[in-house]
Amino acid sequence: MSGIDPLPPLREVIASHGLSARKSLGQNFLLDLNLTAKIARSAGALDGCDVLEVGPGPGGLTRGLLAQGARRVVAVEKDARCLPALAEIAAAYPGRLDVLNADALTLDWATHLTPPVRIIANLPYNVGTELLVRWLTPPVWPPLWQSLTLMFQREVAERIVARPGGKAYGRLAVLAQWRTEARIVMTLPPGAFTPPPKVSSAVVHLAALPRPRFAADPDILQRVVAKAFNQRRKMLRAALKGLMPDIEDRLVAAGLTPTDRAEQVPVEGFCALAREIAKG
Ligand code: SAM
Repeated sequence: MSGIDPLPPLREVIASHGLSARKSLGQNFLLDLNLTAKIARSAGALDGCDVLEVGPGPGGLTRGLLAQGARRVVAVEKDARCLPALAEIAAAYPGRLDVLNADALTLDWATHLTPPVRIIANLPYNVGTELLVRWLTPPVWPPLWQSLTLMFQREVAERIVARPGGKAYGRLAVLAQWRTEARIVMTLPPGAFTPPPKVSSAVVHLAALPRPRFAADPDILQRVVAKAFNQRRKMLRAALKGLMPDIEDRLVAAGLTPTDRAEQVPVEGFCALAREIAKG
């Protein structure tokens, strides 16, 4: 028995199901159920919510989410070795855990959930930023989810909440702060995981705003920001060359200074440029 539920401790679960961690799947497990319950609490109230969890592994965070009262958890796990351990959790919480043995990058997750929805995950590092960008850039806003509570490498978490003017400010900051309120709610040392990763981690909570802070087409904004930060040491007029023949005029029309660098431009400036480019 563990502190938060009647299931066995995670070390026993891992040993009995032979779940040795695989680096290729980004497997660094959280075994402290008090910690996983704390992460679940940092997402806000879960009762009455469906939760999408990506990468449940042996189920430490899954158990935290269920113990904190999630109405239903839909857990997407690529590694079939984890399924028997997850089935034991499903049996302990009848009707509240659905496990999908799938790749989160190709699954049509929205069809499995009923609002209100929160997305909560200790993400595999290799797919984390890709999933975050997709969750932030659906064509229609507000999205199906009301919040994202996600574990990242600490350096990635700092990039998500970074303000203009520094090295950490880039594509992730602009896309996240355009449509959400993003903050770091917890930092964790490598020793919190088994096996320990090389770097510290942090949990970021992103609450969907009812409306984006500034109007912009998500595809155009993404393209502009990716190009601007791809050559972040160059001036905007050079970094964005090729986007439009008259890019310098468009920058001026958007109220930007063509000789500035991308890291000096606030979210509002990138949105103004995306609107200018959308005029064709
Ligand atoms: N949530 C567990 C925990 O906190 O202990 C495991 C976290 S571990 C960092 C990441 C998990 O994501 C692993 O279980 C791994 O098998 C799974 N995973 C990796 N790539 C995936 C993908 N593309 N789709 C779904 N799951 C994936």
